[in-house]
Amino acid sequence: MQNVNATVTIAIDELPDNVVIYKFQDGDFVFVNINKNVEKTEHISKNELIGKKLTEAFPGVKDFGLFDVLMQVYRDGKPRELDTRLYKDEKTNGWRYNSVRKLPNGELIVFYKDMTRCKQLEDEVYSLDKETAQERRKVYLLAKALEQTDDMVLITDVNGIIEYVNDSVLVKTGYERSELIGNKTNIFKSGNHRNDFYKRLWKTILSGKNYNSVIIDKTKYGRLYYADLKITPLFDEERNIQNFVATSTDITSRIEMEKKLQKLATIDSLTEIYNRYKIDEAINLHIERHKRYKEPFCILMFDIDFFKKVNDTYGHDIGDRVLKALSRLVLTHIRKTDIFGRWGGEEFVVILENTSREKALHIAEKLRKRVEAYSIDKKYKITISIGVAEYSEPETREELVKKADEALYKAKQTGRNRVVVG
Ligand code: GH3
Ligand code: MG
Ligand code: MG
Repeated sequence: MQNVNATVTIAIDELPDNVVIYKFQDGDFVFVNINKNVEKTEHISKNELIGKKLTEAFPGVKDFGLFDVLMQVYRDGKPRELDTRLYKDEKTNGWRYNSVRKLPNGELIVFYKDMTRCKQLEDEVYSLDKETAQERRKVYLLAKALEQTDDMVLITDVNGIIEYVNDSVLVKTGYERSELIGNKTNIFKSGNHRNDFYKRLWKTILSGKNYNSVIIDKTKYGRLYYADLKITPLFDEERNIQNFVATSTDITSRIEMEKKLQKLATIDSLTEIYNRYKIDEAINLHIERHKRYKEPFCILMFDIDFFKKVNDTYGHDIGDRVLKALSRLVLTHIRKTDIFGRWGGEEFVVILENTSREKALHIAEKLRKRVEAYSIDKKYKITISIGVAEYSEPETREELVKKADEALYKAKQTGRNRVVVG
């Protein structure tokens, strides 16, 4: 039970709305959970509320309609939405928009947003003549749309001074509205972009064009997040830019997922060195570079000698340990710019950039000796055979790899624990 609650707590804290969960008990609703937004906007702590009855925590609640709607949703399970007064603001005429749903475990979940400013606009509309009222109604609907969207919406003047932000901006960045209005948008600057990034942004929008890019911004508390940012200039009748409207979505989790996938796609999961896909790609790049700069490069292909014996004698798990230890050992003996990966099974490839055939032979020989001298876990000794191949135009990647493979085969044929140049 503890775990289920913990999961829900994490999930609701991620949401941009205020979220409250109630359970029905003795004709009343008892607070089961609230998210951080509620704590912040209602200035109340979770500990104060949880376990309390709604009518005790907020004695006037039955006058505002929410209680009845909770009861209806509890009885028939149909989701409902309604505008209500803010409980805490009986004096100050605050309003909120609520969406109430029943959870599969019988608890009720309420999502709500502060709609005070929209309601004020609506009230003004009723006291106007018909035409102005229609205009204002449009403004009201737009404002309501802006307040309810999960996207962050920010409007600045032509100098980047913030004139408007919606609630999502406040929830995401942790700023109060008053800390943002009148300030410049560089308040969100993360320090993760060079100055020409911002220069290009301003050049684009000041020339009247739309701008779209992924940007890294910073919250009030210094946390960085990725946002998919779109900026649109707004013009007056003479085509002068009056404002900029910036909408952005937090895409941090998507970017992190992509990074994970990217890593999965290029890293071998057992040895955590590059995989065959990455090696192929890297050889292609080296061939391209060779065509332009004519720098020599070589590949080493090596295979553990009698590795079947390691598996047969000590078991497959020890075999795996040997593969991992060998990978670590090789990593400490190659240059940072060399690319090392697992070609498959117990075969590996090293790409030696800017390296002649003689130098590659020397490096391979050194590597062979290092492996021969090393005891894995101070217990297991192995040797490797190495095939060396230098790239020469107009070879393809496949031809280069074949050359190294044939050299490796020769090294095996001629006694193993040796280096052969193809
Ligand atoms: P040699 O290369 O000297 O000719 O002999 P070898 O015994 O190493 O022969 P071969 O290269 O044909 O055998 C490779 C063995 O490596 C067979 C396979 O069971 C083992 N092997 C391949 N991948 C893995 C792995 O991920 N983990 C373990 N433990 N063994 C693996
Ligand atoms: Mg082998
Ligand atoms: Mg093999």
